[in-house]
Amino acid sequence: MAIDLVTRSTWGARAPKGSYSPLSSTRGVKVHYTGGRVDPAIIDDHAKCVAMVKSIQDFHMDGNGWIDIGYSMVVCPHRKVFVGRGAKHVPAANGAGLNSGHYAVLGLVGNAGLVEPTDEILHGILDAIEYLRAEGGAGREIQGHRDGYATDCPGGPLYAWVRRGAPRPGGGDPPPVVPGTPKWPGRLLRFPPVMRGDDVKAWQAQMKLIGFELDADGAYGQRSRDVCKTFQRRVDLPDDGIVGRLTWEASFTAKP
Ligand SMILES: [Zn+2]
Ligand SMILES: [Zn+2]
Repeated sequence: MAIDLVTRSTWGARAPKGSYSPLSSTRGVKVHYTGGRVDPAIIDDHAKCVAMVKSIQDFHMDGNGWIDIGYSMVVCPHRKVFVGRGAKHVPAANGAGLNSGHYAVLGLVGNAGLVEPTDEILHGILDAIEYLRAEGGAGREIQGHRDGYATDCPGGPLYAWVRRGAPRPGGGDPPPVVPGTPKWPGRLLRFPPVMRGDDVKAWQAQMKLIGFELDADGAYGQRSRDVCKTFQRRVDLPDDGIVGRLTWEASFTAKP
């Protein structure tokens, strides 16, 4: 699939306040997360992705005093790739002294709310990296912001993916953390609205198996969300009622 670029005019970017520093090549790309809460509602509404990217740009320009958004590119859950500073320009998000070595790509996940990158986000990050290799002379390295800089960024789930070598979802995926557990479906199971599918059914059946009362009807609604929250509190995960990778794998390794 070709990259789905969101041009600066499409997302309504402000003009940079100064000239970019040119860059002819880099050793690679560093992957980032927002570091704050990302509203899971962005999954259902791309307009919310656009608003979020604009607010990040505002913060970087008005708060940090940078000439523009600090990222080279930004990826949303719709596998769209926003042009930030773009190829051949030095980014600002990697930290002082680290910006000409790597381009900076942000995935719209955070440390609360939407914390686990969906398959679409991972694909989008790789689309951005391929674009920066082709258009900006990016080298082969794929690192996290925390590599060489004191930060939690890009967060546990995204960094674990980087450390695994940033594989394309679906192709030669690594085995689940615990052998024998079914592979996380790569989408977040959440409500509202009601989500349907075999993945929902498999998760509900597992919840029944470990003692929860709910129907394995393949429809993730209010009852599934309540069960999810109760289970998350039991296993010390954030009780957001959303089945992401961590909750999925905890569910299938839980005992009755
Ligand atoms: Zn970062
Ligand atoms: Zn989007």
